[in-house]
Amino acid sequence: MTGPIPFDNSYARLPEGFFTHTLPTPVPAPRLISFNTKLARQLGLDAERLAGPEGAEIFTGQTIPEGATPIALAYAGHQFGNFVPQLGDGRAILLGEVVGRDGIRRDIQLKGSGPTPFSRRGDGRAALGPVLREYLVSEAMAALGIPTTRALAAAATGEVVAREGMPPGAVLTRVAQSHIRIGTFQFFAARGDTAGLRRLADYAIARHYPDAAAAASPYRAFLEGVVARQAELVAQWLLVGFIHGVMNTDNMSISGETIDYGPCAFMDAYDPATVFSSIDAAGRYAYGRQPGIARWNLCRLAECLLPLLAETEDAALAEANAALDSFAGLFNAAYHGGLRRKLGLFTAQEGDTALAEDFLRRMAAARADFTLSFRRLCDAAVSPAADAAMRELFTVPAGYDEWAPGWRARLAREPGDDVARRAAMQRVNPAFIPRNHRVEAVIAAALAGDFSEFEKLLAILATPYGDQPAHAAYAAPPPPGGGIYRTFCGT
Ligand code: AMP
Ligand code: MG
Repeated sequence: MTGPIPFDNSYARLPEGFFTHTLPTPVPAPRLISFNTKLARQLGLDAERLAGPEGAEIFTGQTIPEGATPIALAYAGHQFGNFVPQLGDGRAILLGEVVGRDGIRRDIQLKGSGPTPFSRRGDGRAALGPVLREYLVSEAMAALGIPTTRALAAAATGEVVAREGMPPGAVLTRVAQSHIRIGTFQFFAARGDTAGLRRLADYAIARHYPDAAAAASPYRAFLEGVVARQAELVAQWLLVGFIHGVMNTDNMSISGETIDYGPCAFMDAYDPATVFSSIDAAGRYAYGRQPGIARWNLCRLAECLLPLLAETEDAALAEANAALDSFAGLFNAAYHGGLRRKLGLFTAQEGDTALAEDFLRRMAAARADFTLSFRRLCDAAVSPAADAAMRELFTVPAGYDEWAPGWRARLAREPGDDVARRAAMQRVNPAFIPRNHRVEAVIAAALAGDFSEFEKLLAILATPYGDQPAHAAYAAPPPPGGGIYRTFCGT
């Protein structure tokens, strides 16, 4: 009998030193909480087998499926600006890789499956709450069309974990285009291991940036590729009000996917200074600081690559700086283009960016809900009769009233009819995001043994751009006074 997962494990064929062989820890009572059948099919897995008892065993690490090569990956990273030369998978174990129906190779990783040689002071476990949070938010991001790791399964271990309140333990099975991070490059660079660095870069190029291999300067093209994907990614985060929360260099994927959902959250009222994470007192990773931090992280990657970029240091620095210089232009194009489309402006005209920024400033001044303001704008673009619903979102409605005439005058210079425009606007202005108060409520229900609310929210978030009138309440901001929210690191 062959196994339910057709593994082909390329990372485990890299030299020792990139990882250590590590097995998950036995747990008392494996139980499958949620299984992503649709994703399993896209990956070419045997979804029927995995949805049953065999899945509970595999997704808690009790059974190592045929073809798996369980390893913990080595990496380093800047955490809140401080360099830590060795981090590594402290509570994650890579089972292996599969090549999906789309031809893309992806990692299948257990998160929370017990200690590894990289655990340092940690216990290698994950609590149910953070596992369900990552499941919901990463699947919501995927449905929004934003590059992200995916959730294949959540499984309960039957143990409690040593956290506040002694919550139940769980394991998240995460799917990613790879788990190579900026911190993986830093791991080799910090050791002066240029051979390892080159090996890693060649692997990352082959897996994620195959076009770079044919470029005149492959490592320069690789760096430019990572810069471009990160610039695009952070722009997309801003356009949906997403705050990653812990943009350390070990949490930035080389593939350009959103990875490591810890204290992340979506903003309700628009305010660029928004921070949710309890461990980010200084606001280093505030909503509006994310582009600058992404660039800072890319500078750290560029530093690692210097020995590969040119023969002399001066020449390498020139290559690195040229690649980094492309960040601002790419980010601005993606962000301002996205904002323009959110306003219903699908052609680019002079003054569009100023119009969008004026709207954002007014939203900030009036504490308007970010997601709902743009969603209601889709209706207001068709008829001023929808202005009443817009004004409701602004504590000072004049903020909207003064802005709307200029916007309408600009809309009048757009080709196409109103109804088509509303549909196009709705495709870039989601109604449904994982609102913090909803996520917290489903986690509370799950901790009390009821997983039906989790499944319901997951289903609603799967079609974020649809109207779903039956679930209109899930599009609403938190009730007054319910908007103060703190997230805690996934540990
Ligand atoms: P994070 O902030 O979740 O990205 O984690 C930063 C580092 O801490 C990574 O090396 C993780 O593997 C490690 N880590 C986080 N939580 C735990 C835990 N409960 N046990 C062991 N290592 C952990
Ligand atoms: Mg991490």
